[in-house]
Amino acid sequence: MRVIFLGPPGVGKGTQADFVAKKFSIQKLSTGDLLRESVERGTKLGNEAKIFMERGELVSDNVVIGLVEEKLGSSECRNGFLLDGFPRTVAQANKLSSFLEKNGEAIDRVVYFYLPIADIIERISGRRSCPKCKAVYHLRSIPPKKDGVCDVCGNTLIQRNDDKPETIQSRLVVYQKQTEPLIQYYKDRGILSELDGSGPVSVVQDRLIALLTQSG
Ligand code: ADP
Ligand code: AMP
Repeated sequence: MRVIFLGPPGVGKGTQADFVAKKFSIQKLSTGDLLRESVERGTKLGNEAKIFMERGELVSDNVVIGLVEEKLGSSECRNGFLLDGFPRTVAQANKLSSFLEKNGEAIDRVVYFYLPIADIIERISGRRSCPKCKAVYHLRSIPPKKDGVCDVCGNTLIQRNDDKPETIQSRLVVYQKQTEPLIQYYKDRGILSELDGSGPVSVVQDRLIALLTQSG
């Protein structure tokens, strides 16, 4: 199974991705997570990416494609993969399909998560993340047991810099201009499925599993 999760930032892709990857025994690849790791490690790539990420802009196609191709070529993706947050531009989508084609592979399904804009903003602005184990919470809908503390590892939760109000708006504009065209791109290729992202996590999860199971 080779799947892409497409949709605006904050719609709930990452929250569903871990579960789906486990359920179908496939590898999850989140370019946002990979980039944040490079930023934390202070690598050359990370230092360059940080400037764009803090502004809510996209990191250059070449950098992100390089990161993804390295992972896709590794043995952990042999069983299949779930791409969360990639591709985000038509150039990235084209590169991905030619990379897979070389190995006789293709994407099976693109799940496009949709949600009203007010709910998207509410989800992004209430997001709190664990910088250590990467668990994701929400101040109101998915709060940790103890305020500000990760249930899994006990680390202090943070608000991502790019989740602050001044950056949210620019991320949504970037999404609309650069990523939204991918909806039509994958519709044209007959592999797009639309997923209603509203409702509690378990409800979205059930919809998603039904969709992935029925579309094989
Ligand atoms: P994305 O990966 O699409 O950017 P996330 O999965 O990180 O989005 O979710 C954004 C925020 O919304 C997080 O704070 C998460 O805890 C919360 N969230 C995710 N799914 C739901 C849901 N179904 N209902 C309420 N809040 C949700
Ligand atoms: P995310 O965790 O998916 O919300 O991504 C956080 C940030 O990482 C984005 O706002 C971009 O700056 C950068 N990023 C993640 N994925 C990509 C991608 N596929 N292409 C370019 N930039 C990306």
